[in-house]
Amino acid sequence: MEMPVPCSKCGEWVELNSTRESELNKGKMLCLECYSTDDSVKDKIEEIKDIQLMLDNNDPEVRGDRRGWKRKINELKQEIIELGYDPEEYLY
Ligand SMILES: [Zn+2]
Repeated sequence: MEMPVPCSKCGEWVELNSTRESELNKGKMLCLECYSTDDSVKDKIEEIKDIQLMLDNNDPEVRGDRRGWKRKINELKQEIIELGYDPEEYLY
């Protein structure tokens, strides 16, 4: 039985069985296109959290180049914004 639902992100109507649940906003169903964006945003968020943790712990990996790693965080945040998401919403 067909059951179209609106994508939580773009509002496009899609078959329920061709939607996937957002990794960032549990319970929100996305069309495949929005899901792939959502998924790459999630990866970037995870990366930022990892880098932030290394900076917080002053890990040997980041010690020599803290500014470079902070710049990397800002680049990732910018990429997230360009994908239409607010990084601050998922980071703190
Ligand atoms: Zn969509």
